[in-house]
Amino acid sequence: MDLEAQLAPFAARSAASRGRRFDEPAPPTRTEFQRDRDRIIHSTAFRRLEYKTQVFVNHEGDLFRTRLTHSIEVAQIARSIARNLRLNEDLVEAISLAHDLGHTPFGHAGQEALNDCMKDFGGFEHNLQSLRVVDELEEHYGAFDGLNLTFETREGILKHCSLPNARRLGDVGRRFIEKKQPSLEAQLANLADEIAYNNHDIDDGLRSGLITTAQLDEVGFYARHRHEVGQAFPGINGRRAIHETIRRMINALAMDLIQASMERIGSHAPQNVDEVRDAPPLIAFSEQMSHDALQLKRFLRANLYQHYQVNRMTSKARRIVRELFSAFMAEPRLLPPDYQVTEGAPQRQARKVSDYIAGMTDRYAMREHRRLFMVGEN
Ligand code: MG
Repeated sequence: MDLEAQLAPFAARSAASRGRRFDEPAPPTRTEFQRDRDRIIHSTAFRRLEYKTQVFVNHEGDLFRTRLTHSIEVAQIARSIARNLRLNEDLVEAISLAHDLGHTPFGHAGQEALNDCMKDFGGFEHNLQSLRVVDELEEHYGAFDGLNLTFETREGILKHCSLPNARRLGDVGRRFIEKKQPSLEAQLANLADEIAYNNHDIDDGLRSGLITTAQLDEVGFYARHRHEVGQAFPGINGRRAIHETIRRMINALAMDLIQASMERIGSHAPQNVDEVRDAPPLIAFSEQMSHDALQLKRFLRANLYQHYQVNRMTSKARRIVRELFSAFMAEPRLLPPDYQVTEGAPQRQARKVSDYIAGMTDRYAMREHRRLFMVGEN
């Protein structure tokens, strides 16, 4: 049975996949991309997403998003859009669930600090690390390191990449050198990520009290939908009003993305994935919606991501990552044996330390920091 018979000609298909790094027989009851998705869900890095955060640190409250719930929201948004565009839902789900696997503890603060520590050793990029997790770091299978995912899922995970890294990566990095596009599924997962985090950061921001609805009323896109909610439910307020507003915003963004992408796909009329790769990006918001989304992002940057209470957390997070890195590099014997490099250039040891730190959850990094620096902790 062809499980992908309903897909559009420009969708990715298992039968046309560029394959896995290590050949394996096709799965008898699933598509290749379903298998990728299943392997991601069973990975160790996926479970750790539960205790990693984006803006708030995991222990700050039980109601905030974690990277796990974020990834599930991204997958939900991406799949429902994919079905409308007749794209491959399994591929878009696999990419969405894996897109944050390489994130350090403490969100962007952790990633910047680790990149800084690694500047003499090849740097640290979280997209590249996500790929490294699925290609090399997961220890699940007898025949190979990593999860041995298809080219298409790996390509989707590698959202950005510097040119030197692209050259080093071979096939999966080639599109950055040739300036081509990835599959429509990869393009879609990327924008679904944006829809998810812009909206849930507003929700979490309000819940934390760091931003207020009065501030948000200054943002046109929010204000329009909040007004609609008031019309539909006179007198509504509190959490219920916020949720009604946010669900309308997510819906508006998704509908716009479907509509604008359909128009672009229609005018370029790609007949297969290769033609998708040669075309300009075809999954995109309309100009008006790009403008609205940008306004929302600017608001969050100015009012939430730079809020002094968030700055305090990011400053601590940077310090923890920097101090862990220096301590391990100065004394590799403090590392678990698997991470100690006994021979070779310091680059190798640095990469191991970076893998160790990047794999930590927020709370594990804090605990490890205490264990290393506080007398009386073990
Ligand atoms: Mg994300």
